[in-house]
Amino acid sequence: MAQIIDGKAVSAKVKEQIRKEAAEIKKQGIEIGLAVVIVGSDPASRVYVNNKKKACEEVGFTSYEYTLPEETTESELISLVEKLNDDDKVNGILVQLPLPEHIDENAIINAIRPDKDVDAFHPQNVGHIMIGDFNFLPCTPAGVMELIAETGVDVCGKNCVVIGRSNIVGKPMAMLLLHKHGTVTICHSRTKGLAEICARADILVAAVGKPKFVTPDMVKEGAVVIDVGMDRDENGKLCGDVDYAACFDKAGYITPVPGGVGPMTVAMLMRNTLTAAKIKNNIM
Ligand code: NAP
Repeated sequence: MAQIIDGKAVSAKVKEQIRKEAAEIKKQGIEIGLAVVIVGSDPASRVYVNNKKKACEEVGFTSYEYTLPEETTESELISLVEKLNDDDKVNGILVQLPLPEHIDENAIINAIRPDKDVDAFHPQNVGHIMIGDFNFLPCTPAGVMELIAETGVDVCGKNCVVIGRSNIVGKPMAMLLLHKHGTVTICHSRTKGLAEICARADILVAAVGKPKFVTPDMVKEGAVVIDVGMDRDENGKLCGDVDYAACFDKAGYITPVPGGVGPMTVAMLMRNTLTAAKIKNNIM
């Protein structure tokens, strides 16, 4: 039977550390600010933005919210990003994805100044992550690494399998596991023999975006199973990429959805915002 990795508890611990550090920095008269930009009215994006604002309150940051209408043009959004780039009160800029189809996401990501890119999506920060010399953590993969650390399982030398190769999750996830000396396999929609590859994983990270995709035959006895997915099941209920109930007895450790990776992503965003403020004010 698996041990549940409680993402809410771990994220609370991380946020408490950040709150304490931010309070110390505040004593020097430094306010830490995060700008959150949302375009349109996607309900899931709204929930994510509200969670980020709430986390700012918890750790003592000031959040600046910009809610723009769906019909906002790419150049209008870039103008706002440029204004925030130059705003000294703003340490971090987060533009909630996905953006409406008429806006090129890469153009927006590239417009964010790398030292305020707290999502770590700018190519300059992605490059730093690739070579293992980075200030900003890729939020979701970094959250996953904290959850793995919580199990006490050492990544070094382990067979690690990541299902998914997105720029946001899969690729940086594989990189962080590699930096910790895991032997990493990245799987995707063209992978052949996926179930067999997964079944050899000591650490399995699912970032597929398909409800209950990972079934017990894909899980090695005692493996660490991390579920990044935020999906809806056949009844519209939130679930992950892992069939949690079916895999529970086989896994050694498992993250629930909700309450696993999700809260960690927000905590890592707070950590990046703190880092941005520290770098700007030469506090390292
Ligand atoms: P994405 O961009 O859609 O990528 C999904 C990946 O899964 C792709 O690389 C795709 O392969 C692969 N895939 C799809 N079908 C597959 C199959 N049948 N077999 C093997 N691989 C398959 O998604 P994402 O942005 O990485 O997000 C993944 C999931 O994580 C989603 O549920 C998302 O909501 C969730 N998420 C959660 C958080 C959080 O904080 N908890 C943060 C970000 C994302 P190809 O490249 O070949 O198409």
